Amino acid sequence: MSTATSPQATPSTGTGWSLGDIVVRRIDEIELPRQTGPWLLPDATKEVLDEASWLRPDFADADVPRLASHSFAVTAGGLRIVVDTGIGNGKTRANPAWNGLDTDFLERLTAAGFPPESVDLVITTHLHTDHVGWNTRLAGEDWVPAFPGARYLTSRTEWDHWAATDLDEARSQMFRDSVLPVSDAGQYDLVDVPEHGHEVAPGVFLVPAPGHTPGQVAVELRGSDRRALITGDSIHHPVQLSHPHVNSCVDIDSAQAVRTRGRMLDALADTDALLLGTHFPQPTAGTVRRENGAYRLLAEHAGRVPAATA
Ligand SMILES: [Zn+2]
Repeated sequence: MSTATSPQATPSTGTGWSLGDIVVRRIDEIELPRQTGPWLLPDATKEVLDEASWLRPDFADADVPRLASHSFAVTAGGLRIVVDTGIGNGKTRANPAWNGLDTDFLERLTAAGFPPESVDLVITTHLHTDHVGWNTRLAGEDWVPAFPGARYLTSRTEWDHWAATDLDEARSQMFRDSVLPVSDAGQYDLVDVPEHGHEVAPGVFLVPAPGHTPGQVAVELRGSDRRALITGDSIHHPVQLSHPHVNSCVDIDSAQAVRTRGRMLDALADTDALLLGTHFPQPTAGTVRRENGAYRLLAEHAGRVPAATA
Protein backbone atom coordinates (compact mmCIF):
# COMPACT_ATOMS: atom_id res chain seq x y z
CA MET A 1 0.00 0.00 0.00
CA SER A 2 1.43 3.39 -0.89
CA THR A 3 1.64 6.23 1.58
CA ALA A 4 -0.74 8.14 -0.71
CA THR A 5 -3.54 5.73 0.16
CA SER A 6 -2.36 5.11 3.70
CA PRO A 7 -1.82 8.43 5.45
CA GLN A 8 -1.82 6.73 8.86
CA ALA A 9 1.38 4.86 7.98
CA THR A 10 3.99 7.11 9.50
CA PRO A 11 7.46 6.45 8.07
CA SER A 12 9.68 4.92 10.67
CA THR A 13 13.30 3.92 10.94
CA GLY A 14 14.35 1.00 13.00
CA THR A 15 16.26 -2.22 12.87
CA GLY A 16 15.83 -5.19 10.64
CA TRP A 17 17.44 -7.06 7.77
CA SER A 18 17.59 -5.59 4.27
CA LEU A 19 17.40 -8.03 1.37
CA GLY A 20 17.58 -5.24 -1.24
CA ASP A 21 14.05 -4.41 -2.32
CA ILE A 22 12.58 -6.40 0.60
CA VAL A 23 13.07 -5.44 4.27
CA VAL A 24 12.13 -7.64 7.21
CA ARG A 25 11.85 -6.57 10.85
CA ARG A 26 11.28 -8.55 14.04
CA ILE A 27 8.37 -7.33 16.17
CA ASP A 28 8.78 -8.71 19.68
CA GLU A 29 5.91 -10.12 21.71
CA ILE A 30 7.46 -11.93 24.70
CA GLU A 31 10.40 -14.09 25.67
CA LEU A 32 8.94 -17.46 26.56
CA PRO A 33 9.50 -18.65 30.14
CA ARG A 34 12.42 -20.89 30.96
CA GLN A 35 10.32 -24.04 31.32
CA THR A 36 9.23 -23.78 27.67
CA GLY A 37 12.47 -25.22 26.27
CA PRO A 38 12.47 -28.54 28.19
CA TRP A 39 8.74 -28.97 27.52
CA LEU A 40 8.84 -28.16 23.82
CA LEU A 41 12.18 -29.78 22.99
CA PRO A 42 12.60 -32.59 25.54
CA ASP A 43 15.59 -34.07 23.67
CA ALA A 44 17.50 -30.77 23.74
CA THR A 45 19.19 -31.71 26.99
CA LYS A 46 22.14 -29.95 28.59
CA GLU A 47 24.41 -32.62 27.09
CA VAL A 48 23.02 -31.99 23.59
CA LEU A 49 23.46 -28.24 24.06
CA ASP A 50 27.03 -28.82 25.29
CA GLU A 51 27.89 -30.40 21.92
CA ALA A 52 27.32 -27.07 20.11
CA SER A 53 29.17 -24.39 22.06
CA TRP A 54 27.97 -21.67 19.64
CA LEU A 55 24.46 -21.99 21.08
CA ARG A 56 25.51 -20.13 24.23
CA PRO A 57 24.94 -17.51 25.41
CA ASP A 58 22.37 -16.21 22.90
CA PHE A 59 20.35 -19.34 22.18
CA ALA A 60 20.67 -21.28 25.42
CA ASP A 61 21.49 -20.66 29.05
CA ALA A 62 23.58 -23.09 31.07
CA ASP A 63 20.91 -25.77 30.95
CA VAL A 64 18.00 -25.10 28.60
CA PRO A 65 17.21 -23.60 25.17
CA ARG A 66 15.81 -20.07 25.11
CA LEU A 67 12.71 -19.36 23.01
CA ALA A 68 10.76 -16.25 22.08
CA SER A 69 7.49 -15.19 20.47
CA HIS A 70 7.61 -12.53 17.78
CA SER A 71 6.26 -11.63 14.36
CA PHE A 72 8.11 -10.61 11.25
CA ALA A 73 7.01 -7.42 9.50
CA VAL A 74 7.97 -7.33 5.85
CA THR A 75 7.83 -4.64 3.19
CA ALA A 76 7.83 -5.98 -0.37
CA GLY A 77 6.52 -4.52 -3.62
CA GLY A 78 4.81 -1.64 -1.83
CA LEU A 79 2.97 -3.99 0.53
CA ARG A 80 3.11 -4.30 4.31
CA ILE A 81 3.07 -7.94 5.38
CA VAL A 82 2.95 -9.47 8.87
CA VAL A 83 4.15 -13.08 9.17
CA ASP A 84 2.55 -14.89 12.12
CA THR A 85 0.74 -13.04 14.85
CA GLY A 86 2.02 -14.52 18.12
CA ILE A 87 -0.07 -15.25 21.20
CA GLY A 88 -2.20 -12.11 21.38
CA ASN A 89 -3.57 -10.08 24.28
CA GLY A 90 -6.35 -11.12 26.61
CA LYS A 91 -6.78 -14.66 25.29
CA THR A 92 -7.98 -17.38 27.69
CA ARG A 93 -5.38 -20.14 27.37
CA ALA A 94 -4.51 -23.28 29.31
CA ASN A 95 -0.79 -22.53 29.04
CA PRO A 96 -0.14 -19.99 31.84
CA ALA A 97 2.62 -18.35 29.79
CA TRP A 98 0.08 -17.55 27.08
CA ASN A 99 -2.97 -16.79 29.23
CA GLY A 100 -4.31 -13.23 29.45
CA LEU A 101 -1.25 -11.49 28.04
CA ASP A 102 -1.09 -7.70 28.08
CA THR A 103 1.81 -6.64 25.87
CA ASP A 104 2.58 -3.59 23.73
CA PHE A 105 2.84 -5.68 20.56
CA LEU A 106 0.55 -3.48 18.43
CA GLU A 107 2.35 -0.34 19.63
CA ARG A 108 5.69 -1.89 18.68
CA LEU A 109 4.31 -2.86 15.28
CA THR A 110 3.03 0.68 14.78
CA ALA A 111 6.36 2.18 15.85
CA ALA A 112 8.07 0.04 13.21
CA GLY A 113 5.91 1.71 10.56
CA PHE A 114 3.12 -0.87 10.48
CA PRO A 115 -0.01 0.63 12.06
CA PRO A 116 -2.63 -2.15 11.98
CA GLU A 117 -4.86 -0.40 9.46
CA SER A 118 -1.92 -0.11 7.03
CA VAL A 119 -1.20 -3.86 6.89
CA ASP A 120 -2.03 -5.47 3.54
CA LEU A 121 -1.30 -9.15 4.17
CA VAL A 122 -1.17 -11.34 7.27
CA ILE A 123 0.45 -14.73 6.68
CA THR A 124 -0.21 -17.45 9.24
CA THR A 125 2.36 -20.22 8.71
CA HIS A 126 0.06 -22.67 10.49
CA LEU A 127 -3.03 -22.58 12.69
CA HIS A 128 -1.51 -22.99 16.15
CA THR A 129 -2.36 -20.82 19.14
CA ASP A 130 0.96 -18.98 19.27
CA HIS A 131 0.81 -18.01 15.57
CA VAL A 132 -2.71 -16.59 15.26
CA GLY A 133 -3.14 -14.62 18.50
CA TRP A 134 -2.93 -11.10 17.11
CA ASN A 135 -5.19 -12.05 14.22
CA THR A 136 -7.84 -10.48 16.45
CA ARG A 137 -8.23 -7.96 19.24
CA LEU A 138 -11.03 -7.38 21.70
CA ALA A 139 -13.57 -4.66 20.81
CA GLY A 140 -16.06 -4.48 23.66
CA GLU A 141 -16.97 -8.13 24.12
CA ASP A 142 -16.22 -9.16 20.55
CA TRP A 143 -13.07 -10.43 18.92
CA VAL A 144 -12.54 -8.50 15.71
CA PRO A 145 -9.80 -8.65 13.06
CA ALA A 146 -6.82 -6.65 14.34
CA PHE A 147 -5.85 -5.76 10.77
CA PRO A 148 -9.08 -4.45 9.24
CA GLY A 149 -7.76 -3.86 5.73
CA ALA A 150 -5.67 -7.01 5.40
CA ARG A 151 -6.12 -10.29 3.58
CA TYR A 152 -5.14 -13.14 5.89
CA LEU A 153 -3.47 -16.12 4.20
CA THR A 154 -2.98 -19.71 5.21
CA SER A 155 -2.56 -22.88 3.18
CA ARG A 156 -5.67 -24.73 2.07
CA THR A 157 -4.09 -27.99 3.29
CA GLU A 158 -3.71 -26.51 6.77
CA TRP A 159 -7.26 -25.20 6.84
CA ASP A 160 -8.70 -28.49 5.60
CA HIS A 161 -6.72 -30.47 8.19
CA TRP A 162 -8.21 -28.56 11.11
CA ALA A 163 -11.68 -28.49 9.54
CA ALA A 164 -11.59 -32.32 9.50
CA THR A 165 -10.15 -32.65 13.02
CA ASP A 166 -12.20 -33.25 16.15
CA LEU A 167 -11.05 -30.22 18.17
CA ASP A 168 -10.59 -30.31 21.93
CA GLU A 169 -12.01 -27.39 23.92
CA ALA A 170 -8.72 -25.47 24.06
CA ARG A 171 -8.32 -25.60 20.31
CA SER A 172 -11.99 -24.77 19.73
CA GLN A 173 -11.52 -21.71 21.92
CA MET A 174 -8.53 -20.65 19.80
CA PHE A 175 -10.51 -20.98 16.59
CA ARG A 176 -13.46 -19.07 18.13
CA ASP A 177 -11.40 -16.11 19.32
CA SER A 178 -8.60 -15.91 16.74
CA VAL A 179 -9.56 -17.57 13.44
CA LEU A 180 -13.33 -17.59 12.93
CA PRO A 181 -13.79 -13.81 13.48
CA VAL A 182 -11.39 -13.29 10.56
CA SER A 183 -13.05 -15.83 8.28
CA ASP A 184 -16.51 -14.55 9.29
CA ALA A 185 -15.35 -11.08 8.19
CA GLY A 186 -14.44 -12.58 4.82
CA GLN A 187 -10.76 -11.81 5.29
CA TYR A 188 -9.19 -15.32 5.22
CA ASP A 189 -7.87 -16.57 1.88
CA LEU A 190 -6.83 -20.21 1.47
CA VAL A 191 -3.78 -20.69 -0.73
CA ASP A 192 -2.85 -23.79 -2.70
CA VAL A 193 0.89 -24.16 -2.14
CA PRO A 194 2.69 -26.30 -4.71
CA GLU A 195 6.12 -27.83 -4.13
CA HIS A 196 7.92 -24.91 -5.82
CA GLY A 197 6.02 -22.35 -3.74
CA HIS A 198 3.31 -19.77 -4.36
CA GLU A 199 4.12 -16.07 -4.75
CA VAL A 200 1.75 -13.97 -2.61
CA ALA A 201 3.50 -10.61 -3.05
CA PRO A 202 6.47 -9.57 -5.18
CA GLY A 203 9.33 -11.82 -4.04
CA VAL A 204 7.32 -13.31 -1.15
CA PHE A 205 6.66 -17.04 -1.53
CA LEU A 206 4.80 -19.53 0.63
CA VAL A 207 6.65 -22.86 0.48
CA PRO A 208 5.46 -26.18 1.92
CA ALA A 209 6.94 -27.08 5.33
CA PRO A 210 4.85 -30.06 6.49
CA GLY A 211 5.46 -32.15 9.58
CA HIS A 212 4.84 -29.87 12.54
CA THR A 213 1.37 -29.55 11.02
CA PRO A 214 0.25 -31.06 7.68
CA GLY A 215 -0.24 -27.73 5.88
CA GLN A 216 2.43 -25.59 7.48
CA VAL A 217 4.25 -23.18 5.20
CA ALA A 218 7.55 -21.39 5.52
CA VAL A 219 7.95 -17.96 3.93
CA GLU A 220 10.74 -17.44 1.44
CA LEU A 221 11.75 -13.85 0.71
CA ARG A 222 13.55 -13.44 -2.61
CA GLY A 223 14.98 -9.93 -2.36
CA SER A 224 16.99 -8.22 -5.10
CA ASP A 225 20.21 -8.65 -3.10
CA ARG A 226 19.56 -11.63 -0.91
CA ARG A 227 17.16 -14.40 0.05
CA ALA A 228 15.74 -15.24 3.46
CA LEU A 229 13.57 -17.97 4.91
CA ILE A 230 11.10 -17.49 7.78
CA THR A 231 10.81 -20.87 9.49
CA GLY A 232 7.38 -20.98 11.09
CA ASP A 233 7.73 -23.98 13.39
CA SER A 234 9.71 -26.13 10.94
CA ILE A 235 12.74 -25.15 13.02
CA HIS A 236 11.81 -24.14 16.54
CA HIS A 237 15.31 -23.53 17.79
CA PRO A 238 18.93 -23.35 16.55
CA VAL A 239 19.74 -26.60 18.42
CA GLN A 240 17.89 -28.24 15.52
CA LEU A 241 20.78 -27.15 13.27
CA SER A 242 23.43 -28.97 15.29
CA HIS A 243 20.95 -31.80 15.97
CA PRO A 244 18.37 -31.86 13.14
CA HIS A 245 16.70 -34.96 14.59
CA VAL A 246 15.67 -33.14 17.79
CA ASN A 247 11.90 -32.79 17.43
CA SER A 248 9.37 -30.67 19.25
CA CYS A 249 6.78 -32.47 21.35
CA VAL A 250 3.97 -30.89 19.33
CA ASP A 251 5.00 -32.05 15.85
CA ILE A 252 2.08 -33.97 14.32
CA ASP A 253 4.33 -36.06 12.03
CA SER A 254 7.84 -36.05 13.49
CA ALA A 255 9.46 -38.08 10.69
CA GLN A 256 8.10 -35.64 8.12
CA ALA A 257 9.25 -32.72 10.29
CA VAL A 258 12.80 -34.11 10.21
CA ARG A 259 12.65 -34.49 6.42
CA THR A 260 11.36 -30.93 5.97
CA ARG A 261 14.07 -29.54 8.25
CA GLY A 262 16.78 -31.52 6.46
CA ARG A 263 15.66 -30.29 3.06
CA MET A 264 15.59 -26.66 4.21
CA LEU A 265 18.96 -26.73 5.94
CA ASP A 266 20.61 -28.48 2.99
CA ALA A 267 19.33 -25.76 0.66
CA LEU A 268 20.46 -22.92 2.95
CA ALA A 269 23.85 -24.34 3.92
CA ASP A 270 26.93 -22.40 2.86
CA THR A 271 24.91 -19.74 1.05
CA ASP A 272 24.36 -16.13 2.13
CA ALA A 273 20.61 -16.74 2.57
CA LEU A 274 19.31 -15.59 5.93
CA LEU A 275 17.45 -17.96 8.24
CA LEU A 276 14.85 -16.12 10.37
CA GLY A 277 13.54 -18.21 13.27
CA THR A 278 9.97 -17.65 14.35
CA HIS A 279 10.85 -18.73 17.91
CA PHE A 280 14.60 -18.03 17.87
CA PRO A 281 15.60 -15.63 20.67
CA GLN A 282 17.68 -12.62 19.72
CA PRO A 283 19.59 -12.22 17.47
CA THR A 284 16.97 -14.42 15.76
CA ALA A 285 18.69 -14.62 12.36
CA GLY A 286 21.81 -15.96 10.73
CA THR A 287 23.36 -17.90 7.91
CA VAL A 288 23.73 -21.68 7.90
CA ARG A 289 27.09 -23.46 7.72
CA ARG A 290 27.82 -27.16 7.51
CA GLU A 291 29.69 -28.42 10.55
CA ASN A 292 30.44 -31.89 11.91
CA GLY A 293 27.95 -33.61 9.63
CA ALA A 294 25.21 -31.19 10.66
CA TYR A 295 24.90 -27.41 10.74
CA ARG A 296 25.56 -24.31 12.76
CA LEU A 297 24.02 -20.84 12.70
CA LEU A 298 26.30 -17.85 12.18
CA ALA A 299 24.21 -15.28 13.97
CA GLU A 300 23.49 -12.00 12.23
CA HIS A 301 22.09 -9.13 14.28
CA ALA A 302 19.48 -6.78 12.87
CA GLY A 303 20.93 -3.53 11.54
CA ARG A 304 19.55 -0.12 10.70
CA VAL A 305 17.09 -0.32 7.86
CA PRO A 306 15.32 2.32 5.80
CA ALA A 307 12.00 3.77 6.87
CA ALA A 308 8.95 1.63 6.18
CA THR A 309 7.58 3.96 3.53
CA ALA A 310 6.30 1.30 1.15
ZN1 LIG B 1 4.93 -21.96 17.54
